[in-house]
Amino acid sequence: MSQDSLKIENALPAFAKIKIGWFSFSCCEDNTIVMTEIMNDHWEEWKKMFDFRHARVLKSHNVLDELDAAFIEGAIASSEQEHMLKEVREKSKKLVAVGSCAIVGMPAGQRNTFNEAQQAEIDFLVARFGALPKVLKVSDVVKVDADVPGCPMEPAKFLEVVSTVVKELRG
Ligand code: SF4
Repeated sequence: MSQDSLKIENALPAFAKIKIGWFSFSCCEDNTIVMTEIMNDHWEEWKKMFDFRHARVLKSHNVLDELDAAFIEGAIASSEQEHMLKEVREKSKKLVAVGSCAIVGMPAGQRNTFNEAQQAEIDFLVARFGALPKVLKVSDVVKVDADVPGCPMEPAKFLEVVSTVVKELRG
C-alpha cells in the first residue's frame, strides 16, 4: 500500500471515534466472518475507537453518511451494486478492498471466463437479475486506497491495514 494513498487533508482529533462502514457485495461473505472472529479479540479496544455506522452483520439499524473508512468485500455484479459502491466511495475518506472477490473479482466473477456456450446458458439469469455483462472488481468502479488479500482475507494483514488506516486518519 502506498503511503501517498493514505494521506488525508483533515486529520481526525485523537478523541474522535473513527466512523466505519463494512459492505458486502457479490461474494460468500467469509471476510465478514473473519472480521467478526477477529473482533472477539479486539472488541474492548475497537468499541472505544470505532463507531460502526454501517455493518449489517453487527446491527440492524445502519446509516450511510460520512464515513472515515469503508471496508468492501465482494465483486460488483449489477448496476445497483455499482451505484451503491460509488455512493460509499463518495462518503468515505478511505476505502479498503478486502478479499480476493473485491480485489481481483474472483472467484465471484467466474462467469467472466465462460465460453460462448456456457454464457448462452446463463444469459436468461443475467437478464432476470439485472446483472452486468461482466463481473467487476472494486477498483474497476472506484479508487481503492488499500487492500487485504486472501480468500478469505488474511487476518494479520487486515489488522496491519486497519492500524495503518487509523494512524493516517489520526494524522
Ligand atoms: S474472496 Fe473468497 S472468501 Fe472472500 S468472499 Fe470471495 S469467495 Fe468468499
